[in-house]
Amino acid sequence: MIKKLIRKILGTKSKAARDTNTPVVLGPDAHGIDPRLLSNNAVRVTSTLQEAGYEAFVVGGAVRDLLLGVKPKDFDIATNATPEQVKRLFRRAFIIGKRFQIVHVMFGQDLLEVTTFRGTTSANAPKDEHGRVLRDNTFGSQAEDAERRDFTINAMYYNPANQQVLDYHGGIEDIRAKTLRIIGVPEARYREDPVRMLRVVRFAAKLKFSIEPETGAPIKVMAPLINNVPAARVFDEMLKLLMSGHALACLQQLRKEGLHHGLLPLLDVVLEQPLGVKFVTLALDSTDARIHAGKTVSPGFLFASLLWHQVLEKWTAYRASGEQTIPALHLAADDVLDSQTEKLALQRKIGTDMRDIWSMQPRFERRTGKAPHKLLEHLRFRAGYDFLLLRCASGEIDAEIGDWWTAFYEGDEITREELIASVGRPVGGGGGNSGGEGGSGTGGAKRKRGPRRGGRNRSGRGEGADSPAPAHDGGPD
Ligand code: ATP
Ligand code: MG
Repeated sequence: MIKKLIRKILGTKSKAARDTNTPVVLGPDAHGIDPRLLSNNAVRVTSTLQEAGYEAFVVGGAVRDLLLGVKPKDFDIATNATPEQVKRLFRRAFIIGKRFQIVHVMFGQDLLEVTTFRGTTSANAPKDEHGRVLRDNTFGSQAEDAERRDFTINAMYYNPANQQVLDYHGGIEDIRAKTLRIIGVPEARYREDPVRMLRVVRFAAKLKFSIEPETGAPIKVMAPLINNVPAARVFDEMLKLLMSGHALACLQQLRKEGLHHGLLPLLDVVLEQPLGVKFVTLALDSTDARIHAGKTVSPGFLFASLLWHQVLEKWTAYRASGEQTIPALHLAADDVLDSQTEKLALQRKIGTDMRDIWSMQPRFERRTGKAPHKLLEHLRFRAGYDFLLLRCASGEIDAEIGDWWTAFYEGDEITREELIASVGRPVGGGGGNSGGEGGSGTGGAKRKRGPRRGGRNRSGRGEGADSPAPAHDGGPD
């Protein structure tokens, strides 16, 4: 009652008063979307569908971004045409998904996802023992489609043909008030799909929106439900979060909401060591900066950074128990990858990249003979080198070693020979204070080369030069 009264006084409609079956329709003057922010292909898809007699709209995050004056990074389309009907209208269209079919429409490299309006979750949809909806594949009306979307700001439809926005759940008001509000009863929506809790955090950090109190309240209590979500889905959402350009803010918000447990096991421990915090902070800062500069970021580098201090700890322990430096590092990497793979469904390629980056680290200590040249030829040299610089910047190892490698990497052949000569003593002094390096780092120098990376001989320099951004971007493979 009091809430209703307050809303009345403030002039906002209560949820109950809003008819969510009929949209509020806003014309261009009311919503102010700049049509130049739309992609030609999005307009192509909607107009093709409309010409064939179907309804078609840009939907979801793209409409939200358009309303915020931001160019959307991708465009999703919602329609009342079935996947089969959509497919017939486009030359390169593929029906994907078993559970709920959607259509990928391709124009060159550009991919648009076309989804048929979905019906609301029926009470008898199959669920797991915690209430998570397992399958729910019915088509529905546009109003139903809006109702099953996550947040009010993600549930608007834009028709490029008449430039109207259809708003079923007060999304426009919430955009203006910079508020994240879940559609429906928060507890029920999180139970149906716990990933929505991660999405709240991501959008809050990325858009700098505040979380409406009723939307935020259940998260702390319901956070453990994330553990029942298939690892691959959690991983996808984590990746979006880390690649949002606001990774640091997201991670801080995750901690605040108590959502980080179970996502990156032992990240808690890492974040409690000052050096670990510094390293992760630097890594995420540089990731965010790269995203803002329009550069790519490789998931392998990102996860290698997040988990490095865990590797360091285990590496030290294995060496203390008598293992040689290099095998000890591989054992540590195995342990960490095993424990994380299960939780995060780390894809094999990402795991391989992480291992490459980690196992290159002791090789940076070998700065005599042919070793530095060989390392420079490593396919992942730039990623390993960027990683080394992070270790220097965090204070884990001496900055001198990073400076040496920068000079070596950028220098001509004569400079390189001088640099090698300047080391002039058995390497080992380059190691710092972590115990992860030191003289033992060179112990591996007697081993010829890592036995695992045979056949890779593309020049690290070439890779860096080809790519618009250094090193740890997706890489050529
Ligand atoms: P981004 O700009 O980060 O891609 P987005 O809102 O487009 O943000 P997507 O994951 O691409 O996020 O999802 C597209 C749309 O699908 C969302 O805007 C939302 O309407 C709907 N959606 C996605 N995930 C969920 C979910 N877990 N529950 C309900 N609706 C969802
Ligand atoms: Mg999207």
